[in-house]
Amino acid sequence: MDSPTLSSAAVKAAAATVGFDACGIAAATPLTEAEWGYAEWLHNGYHADMVYMEQHRDMRANPALLLPGAQSVIVLLLGYKPSRRMEGTARIAQYAYGEDYHERIKRMLYQLIAAIRQQLPDFEAKPCVDTVPISDKQWARRAGLGWIGRNTLLINPTLGSYCNIGELVTTSPTDHYDTPLESRCSDCQACIDACPNQALTQTAHTGIPLLDATRCASYHTVENRSPQLPPTVHLSGYAFGCDCCQIACPYNQEAAVRYTLTDERKTQLEDLAQADSATFRHITKHTALNRIRHQQWLRNQSAANARE
Ligand code: SF4
Ligand code: SF4
Repeated sequence: MDSPTLSSAAVKAAAATVGFDACGIAAATPLTEAEWGYAEWLHNGYHADMVYMEQHRDMRANPALLLPGAQSVIVLLLGYKPSRRMEGTARIAQYAYGEDYHERIKRMLYQLIAAIRQQLPDFEAKPCVDTVPISDKQWARRAGLGWIGRNTLLINPTLGSYCNIGELVTTSPTDHYDTPLESRCSDCQACIDACPNQALTQTAHTGIPLLDATRCASYHTVENRSPQLPPTVHLSGYAFGCDCCQIACPYNQEAAVRYTLTDERKTQLEDLAQADSATFRHITKHTALNRIRHQQWLRNQSAANARE
């Protein structure tokens, strides 16, 4: 039986009702190296010790290997720009201030599936939010939701790069596919200049932005499990993630605020600098900070203070 054809307008209306900030739809034809630069990124060792990034390369490029018969990738954005930033000596990247986006977006993706099924009961889709090998930023670009900036992130005209991404890979075709946007970075390179670690680079011949994770403070404070961080990495006061290249971006300065950082939450986050293990675990439960252990937090904090 053929999968039902989606109305692009109806899917976008349902996505807005569920609470997503933006929705675009791409045809599920495989990504090419020419638009992606992934093989060069791996070849250069820019993935550091994230060996899982070497696995499922075909699947990352081809949604039909995730869901047989995939026709479309519905991409959803959820903005997270906070109303203000936390202060203190152990700063946390802004995406981690609120509820863990994995949990929130997953819940919303299931709500969206349910909403679409009210119109099309045979709608089949696989929800993805960092849980399966799929290149979120590239599918968001393909779905017309923005371009890949020189900070290597998706830049949405309204949300800037302060947005998390989720997808529904579906066997349904749609009556309209969105068109990718041209880059609007122009001759700006504020993010490159703002990076304290020279971690932002590009493919040799095609100029596709690439992140060298071996140099990136965000990689080291979140993914690196070694007892010590490399002494050459500058943390700029961050003990979890790093926002330097995002704060510098003019599109983020103009971006819509999507999260209110209350006095109570701000104090809680700033007090994490003194938290013992149990308090750290309690406060970071259901946040992206839950990804690191308290030992990593102490390691990062000590390095952030020493290298301020
Ligand atoms: S997150 Fe920080 S270290 Fe990484 S590329 Fe951006 S500015 Fe550089
Ligand atoms: S800072 Fe400038 S170059 Fe970097 S992503 Fe933003 S607009 Fe593009």
